[in-house]
Amino acid sequence: MPSLTVMLPAERIQARIHELAAEIDRDYPEGPVYLVGILKGACFFLADLARAMKTPARLEFVGISSYGRGTTSSGEVRLTKDLDASVEGYDVIVVEDIVDSGITLSYLIQVFQQRRPRSLRVATLLDKPDRRQRPVKVDYVGFQIPDKFVVGYGLDYAENYRNLPDICVLSE
Ligand code: 5GP
Repeated sequence: MPSLTVMLPAERIQARIHELAAEIDRDYPEGPVYLVGILKGACFFLADLARAMKTPARLEFVGISSYGRGTTSSGEVRLTKDLDASVEGYDVIVVEDIVDSGITLSYLIQVFQQRRPRSLRVATLLDKPDRRQRPVKVDYVGFQIPDKFVVGYGLDYAENYRNLPDICVLSE
């Protein structure tokens, strides 16, 4: 039976998101900023971050193929849903759930650079720096976490556990 241990309770997540939102407000006093959420894992982070920000935000989503049913990266990334709007000339923040090897993010940065935004930054709720294979610059980090497989608050294991309010370590 898999077991779940709380790593980051909901209240801590929310408190940190408010700090990140205040940083973004300071960095982009005017807006609008395009927040581009990576489906599906970043959906709650994006929703809470956007509502904690005062700077006007526009919301976009892209879909990518990632881990599938396993817990390790295949090393292959594919765009399964593209942006609906052009972000050319706008400030863009890519909103990720977790940066692990950095493979997904380095691919996405390359894709979004081609869309000619005015600026491009990255916000991630979680960062596992120990597992990095590609160097990526992350501008806003919620929490650095150790090399454990986590679920909840949008993160899944085989599509389960996304709606847990806390971030939990899943162990078999
Ligand atoms: P990367 O390409 O940086 O290795 O992986 C990024 C993606 O892998 C994340 O967007 C997420 O979908 C998935 N991922 C990485 N670590 C974890 C984890 O601990 N738990 C879950 N549920 N997904 C993870």
